[in-house]
Amino acid sequence: PGTSHVLAEKEFERGSSNALEQEQAMRAGIEGSEFQLMYQPKVDARTGRLTSLEALARWSRPGVGQVSPIEFIAAAERTGLIGALGTALLKQACEQIAQWRTHYTHCVPVAVNVSPLQLLDPRFPQLVAHMLQSCGVAPQWLTLEITESSAVQNLEQTTVQVEQLRGMGVHVAMDDFGTGFSSLNMLRSLRLHTVKIDRGLIDPLPSPDAVAVVRAICQLAEALHLHVVAEGVETQAQAVAARDAGCGELQGYLYSKPLL
Ligand code: C2E
Ligand code: MG
Ligand code: MG
Repeated sequence: PGTSHVLAEKEFERGSSNALEQEQAMRAGIEGSEFQLMYQPKVDARTGRLTSLEALARWSRPGVGQVSPIEFIAAAERTGLIGALGTALLKQACEQIAQWRTHYTHCVPVAVNVSPLQLLDPRFPQLVAHMLQSCGVAPQWLTLEITESSAVQNLEQTTVQVEQLRGMGVHVAMDDFGTGFSSLNMLRSLRLHTVKIDRGLIDPLPSPDAVAVVRAICQLAEALHLHVVAEGVETQAQAVAARDAGCGELQGYLYSKPLL
């Protein structure tokens, strides 16, 4: 016990100083506007025309380089910084929409990813309303992407929040559907507009079993009056299979990587 105690302590110290360093760097990064959004197109599965954009966060950490959003979003959730970061990103997206709206006649809606922890805050719908109003953006230009894990774990609360957002005119999409919980009860209970099928189910297309699964999700979505987006489309064969299975919109490197 004596020696393992010493080892554990060293490991702990190293871990916590790393975490602390990252937390401080993130805090400074939020204040210093180091976080930026990139925008990835979604296209109409039939015509190939641009339908909307998804805003994806990027962090270029000084002295370190690009940090993956999977890593820094998780870190922000652990350290309680997700509220501040999420608000900063939502603001950035709304300002960008407002700017596009003043410069271009043809604009498309922008989807912003929302952490389960942001959605847990009962004041979240008010925050969104305030942000839209202060940027002068009409709600139909904003979609919020929520993940199924958050919805399943807090179904009652999520239902209330989604209903409020819907009432305001903001669209809500279920992200990464099909690999996690894939709760059908949740799909039915939440008044969503869109389901995004996870890349994990699109990747094996056009194999017949994968086609069967995607088609089943599309049929279910149609019965519930939900739009379907296929995520992570990388090849023409996947695009054709996803379209034929019933996906209305496609997103992935085949069309474009996220753009600045
Ligand atoms: P997501 O919302 O499911 O976003 C899709 C991810 O798939 C993005 O990765 C995108 O760059 C990537 N992707 C798109 N097309 C393809 C493709 O054809 N092939 C492959 N292999 N990948 C593709 P990214 O930008 O690294 O984001 C990862 C995740 O981080 C997102 O998954 C989302 O859950 C989270 N995230 C990103 N930005 C934000 C944000 O602003 N707020 C929150 N809360 N989460 C965010
Ligand atoms: Mg997303
Ligand atoms: Mg996704």
